[in-house]
Amino acid sequence: MNTQTDAIHFGYEKDSQGTMAVPIYMSTAYEFRDSKHAADLFALKELGNIYTRLMNPTNAVFEKRFAQVEGGIAAIATASGMSAIFSTIVNLCEAGDNILVANAVYGGTSTLTSHTIKRMGITTKNFDVTNPGNLEELIDEKTKLIIFESLSNPALEVAEFETIVNIANKHNIITCVDNTVATSFLCRPLDLGCDIVVHSTSKYTGGQGLALGGIIVEGELCEAKIKGNSRYAHFNEPDESYHGLVYADLPFPSFIMRILLCVLRDLGATASPFNSWLMIQGLETLSLRIKEHSKNALAIAKFLDNHPKVKKVNYPLLNNDKNFQRANKYLNNGASGLLSFELESYEKALSVTDSTELFSVVVNIGDSKSLIVHPASTTHQQLNNEELKACGISDSLVRISAGIESIDDLIEDLTKALN
Ligand SMILES: *Cc1c(COP(=O)(O)O)cnc(C)c1O
Repeated sequence: MNTQTDAIHFGYEKDSQGTMAVPIYMSTAYEFRDSKHAADLFALKELGNIYTRLMNPTNAVFEKRFAQVEGGIAAIATASGMSAIFSTIVNLCEAGDNILVANAVYGGTSTLTSHTIKRMGITTKNFDVTNPGNLEELIDEKTKLIIFESLSNPALEVAEFETIVNIANKHNIITCVDNTVATSFLCRPLDLGCDIVVHSTSKYTGGQGLALGGIIVEGELCEAKIKGNSRYAHFNEPDESYHGLVYADLPFPSFIMRILLCVLRDLGATASPFNSWLMIQGLETLSLRIKEHSKNALAIAKFLDNHPKVKKVNYPLLNNDKNFQRANKYLNNGASGLLSFELESYEKALSVTDSTELFSVVVNIGDSKSLIVHPASTTHQQLNNEELKACGISDSLVRISAGIESIDDLIEDLTKALN
């Protein structure tokens, strides 16, 4: 089936009630048939529901459907996008290991990878996601993961996939792509040869700014990188914490199984079934919405690009944007709803942000409502000057998340605010 169809139907079998909408299974735990059934489930002799920290039928529909839409083989929903990224890192790394992270990433990913995990003994080396030629020099035997965003928030850099994937494959290192901004409908990281995709489903997937969520998707290629690879010894050797289980020997996708059996078991950043239900509603219309977001963002970018008070506009599908070629190569059907622009000064950036009426001053992205924010004083406030520069953020930069209102109203509002 086409992904547009899968986003609406895949992974749900109606129960005896014939319920058209996927039910919300709000239940902490599940009754076993008897003690033997319980023991078999814990021993993985049979797969089934044990406890909602590990699995839930509503989450399961969302996970199966999302994996299918993203072109992966398995997925697991998490409490937020940040917990999806953290779970991915700890699934692969221990103290002494290092990861390679793109310089242009989401603020939370930047603080997580440069500060928080450092305190746990995991170090980060950054690379230029648009020109990753030196990536290979950063790799050593302790490098466990390469993380980057397909379309970065908020710098809007389009990743140079081919070079990154070639280097990662040469050294048998897992790649993880944060596909939050582009979504599965504009960019297909797994088809481009990547191994893991993560999303903050709080953004375009949910689509209306209703709930937090994250998801981790395992692609077909990941298994071969893990199996027998000494870099990932903990997948290939018995896990003492699960009576000697060897994840790479399981007849299931081992990256996701280890997240479930070990990371969610012990860290507990599980998705709420109610939030997964909201994400299921969002996913049904995502293919249509993301095209509208992209159309509005391109129209706003062109308008701003011709405006005398705007110094520079960042949007990958503007002809003069430095990402234009990569955007045409790696993105289909648009470049999503985010754009940013520079004004003459810090003061002007704040005053334009505050003068809009239809645009709400909000740090979120991917809402059906249009949003505006000044990153240097908000989302990226905790970054020092060097880190800000590396992310491509100046103090006169304004970010817009274009909603799906009428473009005429959005342009009129911006025209007034820029006056
Ligand atoms: C928002 C965002 C995150 C974090 O997601 P939460 O759901 O807010 O935890 C991660 N990556 C990107 C690209 C984001 O935009």
